[in-house]
This record gives sequence, C-alpha cells and structure tokens, in this order.
Amino acid sequence: MITEVIAKEEIARAKSIIYEVNSIAIVTHMSPDGDAMGSSLGLLHFLKALGKETVAVVVPNKAPAFLQWMPGAEDVISYETQQEEAELVLSNTELIVCLDFNTLSRIGMMGEKVAMAPAKKILLDHHLYPADFADVIMSYPYISSTSELVFRLICRMGHFMDINKACAECIYTGMMTDTGNFSYNSNQAEIYTIVSELMKLGIDKDDIYRKVFNTYSADRMRLMGYCLYKKMKLYPEYKTALITLTGKELFPFHFQPGDAEGLVNLPLSIDGINFSVMMREDKDKIKLSFRSQGKFPANILAAELFGGGGHLNAAGGESYITMEETIKKFEEALPSYYETHKEQ
Ligand code: 5GP
Ligand code: MN
Repeated sequence: MITEVIAKEEIARAKSIIYEVNSIAIVTHMSPDGDAMGSSLGLLHFLKALGKETVAVVVPNKAPAFLQWMPGAEDVISYETQQEEAELVLSNTELIVCLDFNTLSRIGMMGEKVAMAPAKKILLDHHLYPADFADVIMSYPYISSTSELVFRLICRMGHFMDINKACAECIYTGMMTDTGNFSYNSNQAEIYTIVSELMKLGIDKDDIYRKVFNTYSADRMRLMGYCLYKKMKLYPEYKTALITLTGKELFPFHFQPGDAEGLVNLPLSIDGINFSVMMREDKDKIKLSFRSQGKFPANILAAELFGGGGHLNAAGGESYITMEETIKKFEEALPSYYETHKEQ
C-alpha cells in the first residue's frame, strides 16, 4: 500500500466532477517534456477506460520527437499548429484538467482561452506556488512528478483496475524523465512501489528508457560534443558551470525542439560542480535552464533574475536582453548567490 498524499476532500471533489462530466480536455505546459506528456496521456487513457466519451489532450506546442512514440501522442492537439481545433475543444468541453504547470502563463497564448472557458477546472501539479485559477487545486511540490500524482489520483478514486498498459507506460515515462531515470528527486521509497505496480501491468521499462534516451539524432550528439568541448565555462570557486548557445551556433546542427533536453545536466557529472546553467537563443528570447545538486537551489536564481521558477534542483527562466547581457547579468549575480545559498 502507498500512503495517502492527495488530501481526501480534494480527491472527493475531483472525483465527483470527473464522474459528472462526459467531455474532458487535458492541458499541459509549453514545450511539453516527458512528465507533461506522461501525466496528460496517462490521464487520457484512464478517462477513456472509465468510459468518457470525449477526451482530448491539448498542448501549447508539439512535444519533441523522442516522445512521439507514446500511446495517444498521435492524437494530441497542438495549439500552435491547430489553433482552431484547440479553441473549439477548450470552449466546448465540460472539464479542463491542467497538469504539470502552476500558472496559466506556462501555457502561453492558450492561457487566456483556458481562463475564459466555461468548463470546470482541476489542477494537478508539483510546482511551488500554484495560481488560484481552478475549482480543485491539488498541488504537491515534494512529489517528483505529476505522472506519479496521476497514479495516486486514479488509485485514490478507487480505480487502480482501470489503469491499462498504455496508461501505465505513460505514467512510467513521466516518473522516469522527471527524475533523470531515477537519479535525482528519487529518494522516496514509494516511487519504487508504484514502479513495481506499473511493471506488473506489463510495461517494459528498459524499452521505454531506450525509446526516450537512446533515439538521439547524430546532429544532437555532435551538438552535445560541441557544448562540452567548446562552450562549457566553469566557475570552480562557485561550483558552477555555464553553457551558452546562440542561434548561429545551433544552425549547423539542424537544431530541433528537444535537442537541448538534458544538455544542462551534463556538467553536473564533473566532480565539484553543483550548479549548471544553460542559455539558448530562441526566436524572440533566450531560454534558460538551471540544474543543481543537493540543497543548492536552482529555482531562486531563476525566479529572482529571469522571471522563471521551478523546482529546487531543476528550474527555468527567460531573458529578453542579448546573450552577452544575459551572461553578464548571471556572472554578476553568481558570487553573492553562491555565498547566500552554498551548503554549510
Ligand atoms: P527545463 O530546463 O527542462 O526547460 O525546465 C525545468 C523546470 O523548470 C520545468 O520543469 C519547470 O518547472 C521550470 N521552468 C522551465 N522554464 C520555466 C519558465 O520559463 N518559468 C517558470 N516559472 N518555470 C520554468
Ligand atoms: Mn513535472
């Protein structure tokens, strides 16, 4: 048995809403990662097994290629490329379930449509500081993935037997990716009880690992080499590493969405590096990723300097100044940030 994490009254309210509706839209954050897709598609398969007539997953933009094998991924609606269809779903559905994000700004242009939609709203998430936009808010930041929360919600609704193999594969994918294949945020014993249950439902965890982590393009591997060989700057006195990539540098590698995934983690394998930052030039902004180890926070700097946030060990933000200015801003803040937050 696993302990009860989600509050009883939240389960009861979510359950009664889910029971009474027939059409449900599931939405998740921009640039969906393994947990965003895993929790959304996991819930989709469960709701279909429950007999719901209309269930759709709507995302702000498409998930990267390494997640397209996931059962149900082919039917996911992308707001970026299927705006009309997405808006139709959001304005007609009876319930919108928001997964793996804490504020509507995390779903971009879609946020306004969700806010305006007459549907009931349920939020299930593991990011700090959930915004108050839903009828039921289930926010558990100490749980390492939203996919785990989806499993817990289904079980607590009394529907473990409705978790089919497709649902289990999606939930496992999210649990695996949000913990770096169980290498961080993964010290809670019950994670493995849940994994064991999912395996009993027939998932092939080794195959899921290969599909997610061993399907990189040659270009992406070369980009990784370039980052480590040419672009990794170390600040040993602050146990910090920085990788920066401009659009011009990405061009020869035929950069695809998802290609940067995981690159920020690499410097953490260096002895004595506890904080790793990546800055990547996008169309209209610089996207920042922060990773840390142990108690050193990644999310405070992301929030204080770059309007972002996230978890203790994995956070992100954005910058609307030039790359040079962004680097300068970071380097100027680093010494005092390190002093304030270094482990005693
Ligand atoms: P990644 O570096 O993989 O893009 O993001 C890591 C984590 O940081 C995400 O799971 C999310 O919680 C958070 N995050 C990433 N980008 C942003 C952002 O722009 N704003 C906020 N608030 N959080 C972000
Ligand atoms: Mn997540």
